[in-house]
Amino acid sequence: MKAPVTPDVLTVPRKEVADRPNLIGMTRDALRDALIEIGIPERQAKMRTGQIWQWLYHWGVRDFAAMTNLSKDIRAKLADWFTVELPEVVTRQVSGDGTRKYLVRIAGGHEVEVVYIPEEGRGTLCVSSQVGCTLTCSFCHTGTQKLVRNLTAGEIVGQVMLARDDLEEWPEPGTGTGDKGPRLLSNIVLMGMGEPLYNFENVRDAMRIVMDGEGIALGRRRITLSTSGVVPEIARTAQEIGCLLAVSFHATTDAVRDVLVPINKRWNIDTLLDALRDYPKATNSERITFEYVMLDGVNDSDADAHRLVELLEGIPAKVNLIPFNEWPGAPYTRSSNNRIRAFATILMQAGYASPIRTPRGEDIMAACGQLKSATERQRKSRAQIVSEAGL
Ligand code: SAH
Ligand code: SF4
Repeated sequence: MKAPVTPDVLTVPRKEVADRPNLIGMTRDALRDALIEIGIPERQAKMRTGQIWQWLYHWGVRDFAAMTNLSKDIRAKLADWFTVELPEVVTRQVSGDGTRKYLVRIAGGHEVEVVYIPEEGRGTLCVSSQVGCTLTCSFCHTGTQKLVRNLTAGEIVGQVMLARDDLEEWPEPGTGTGDKGPRLLSNIVLMGMGEPLYNFENVRDAMRIVMDGEGIALGRRRITLSTSGVVPEIARTAQEIGCLLAVSFHATTDAVRDVLVPINKRWNIDTLLDALRDYPKATNSERITFEYVMLDGVNDSDADAHRLVELLEGIPAKVNLIPFNEWPGAPYTRSSNNRIRAFATILMQAGYASPIRTPRGEDIMAACGQLKSATERQRKSRAQIVSEAGL
């Protein structure tokens, strides 16, 4: 028997019953096809795509009614068939140093974190590509969480858009081309949760939207994708995204890297370095960043530094030394500042720029390897408080 239709159903907002596709995250081609499918004449589709694209990604407009260069008919049609939605910001924390951390909810109730780090005349957004991670790097807290799912392209570009919302960085409609001054959100690093190269297509489509000159228009050199070393996808990253590359290197022997970054057992140091040597964009002006987490007594000796110099030979590289961000139960501790400095000196003497990453936003636990997990811990402790109080 068919369930009776209750008046309730009719009062549910349309978007919740209709399951309409979200325009955010569609490539230009997909958007054009979607417009044709709802009856927009093919000869107009390219122009309409361009108009809608600019509203969404240049002006940051989400309401079809405000897209004033489209006819009323088209606006109504769009509203009938599509939504424009970003992931929902659940909490927003601002650190004493200006770092902002957003906990963001995506479809299915999963949560990921996005971090904005302001710097002099620029600002970097650290974006997540997966909920959790299938890899199990032993120093990374994300690695202890099971992968829940890949983010969609819309959820990835949505992180950039919600940060621009919060920074109030969309130009005012009707004011020409918008602010040409230094951008608050000028750079993107794919260094949040997840392994971006295990979600290649969605990351690629999202970054193409971000780079598109008629929208957010961030240049490809303002985007850095960090990978643990998914060798077969490295060449594609250059060809299909063209962004800068960072590699979670972290060790100078296969024996140690096998433990720290277990994907090394599949593609070892030599194989990885060969792929990096061929990275078409690895010229001197677009060097590959080698991320190297400093773990006390594990990978931080002078011998490691010298070996690293030898391994990097022939690759335009810079090294980013990351003081280990400790998390409860972590099997490692952070190298001392003196050790990190000594390591950096050896690299510098060999001609490698090797900045030591200053921890930012520590008071809100916005650091690498702590994303999301810290929030979970906070929740747990709140739950503990409740149970201890016998509530
Ligand atoms: N999965 C990708 C990108 C996300 S991790 C990758 O592994 O490259 C971003 C960077 O943070 C990586 O270099 C990772 O090795 C590093 N990282 C993870 N946990 C960390 C921790 N606890 N302390 C310092 N760096 C960490
Ligand atoms: Fe995954 Fe990167 Fe963490 Fe390794 S370091 S577990 S690849 S997020």
